[in-house]
Amino acid sequence: MLGKDYEGQECALASTLEVLGERWTLLIVRDAFFGVRRYSDWVARLDIPRAVLSDRLRGLVDHGILVKRDDPDHAGRHLYQLTAAGEELWPPLHGLITWGSRHRRPSTNTYRHAACKTELGPGAACPRCGVVPRPADVLVVPRRTAAHHGRRTDPVSLAMRGRTRRLLEPVEVGAAVATAAARERPAVHAGA
Ligand SMILES: [Zn+2]
Repeated sequence: MLGKDYEGQECALASTLEVLGERWTLLIVRDAFFGVRRYSDWVARLDIPRAVLSDRLRGLVDHGILVKRDDPDHAGRHLYQLTAAGEELWPPLHGLITWGSRHRRPSTNTYRHAACKTELGPGAACPRCGVVPRPADVLVVPRRTAAHHGRRTDPVSLAMRGRTRRLLEPVEVGAAVATAAARERPAVHAGA
């Protein structure tokens, strides 16, 4: 198995990749910006092996990118939220999404400054106001073109789809769905 470390690469990028460069990690962080906070919701969104998800979440908590709290609504479960350092990943993440949209496949969303509705430009800055809005002040606006719509049909993706939201706004999957998920997966969280 490939190690996580880049031995001999004593640079900031190498040490960042040691924290964020593993498969799935950045998608977990992206979903945290999209308001995913629960283990079961990441499972639904990412089709990811549970052991891998637990490992990645643990790593993100250990490195101060996510913080783990008790879930007030589900005894014995936890919520994960971005720390201040985690929220600082928004501009680079936006940069990667923008690059991907240009060179790989079109993004399903645009990202706009909530105050003025202007689409964010390079550096996740608002070109109109000349500021870099914090994530909570960024609107996620789905593109209208059907071809751009994601194909995922899991309840978490459906709860996000088709409506404008702010980054970090918690995704609320319907109570019925949450109950069904809880029934289906009684003892999910070995360490997660
Ligand atoms: Zn603005």
